[in-house]
Amino acid sequence: MHCPFCGTHDTKVTDSRLVAEGDQVRRRRQCVACGERFTTYETAELIMPRVIKGDGSREAFNEEKLRAGMLRALEKRPVSAEAIEASVQRIRQTLRARGEREIHARDIGEAVMAALRGLDQVAYIRFASVYRRFQDIDEFRAEIDRLAQDPEQTPPR
Ligand SMILES: [Zn+2]
Repeated sequence: MHCPFCGTHDTKVTDSRLVAEGDQVRRRRQCVACGERFTTYETAELIMPRVIKGDGSREAFNEEKLRAGMLRALEKRPVSAEAIEASVQRIRQTLRARGEREIHARDIGEAVMAALRGLDQVAYIRFASVYRRFQDIDEFRAEIDRLAQDPEQTPPR
């Protein structure tokens, strides 16, 4: 792999390990010419089902969009980047494991809500309030009550 700093063709791998529960390989590399270090991530490219949007149109599954939505909900929350990444990969796996050629956008939304619920309850409420378009404070309160009444969904601390 080329060095992103000086363009030299030769860089060496100094460390390699599995992350995101084994679905990703993280490699630390060092340039043999300029000595700069950088990191690369390797993920298997697998065909994802296409997404059926609310209006019936189809679009390609967009992992970046999924990640961006989760990051927005998790802004300033105490959740590690690695936990978020593992969660994104798990959602991908879940959606792919359905074995369908097309999935509904709302199924992705539900998968994200389930994941956020396990990661951080504040992020979950943030996402749910936008995704489910809470109309008023009562719907908001009802969702928080549901969370409170379902202790087994509480993430381990
Ligand atoms: Zn270099």
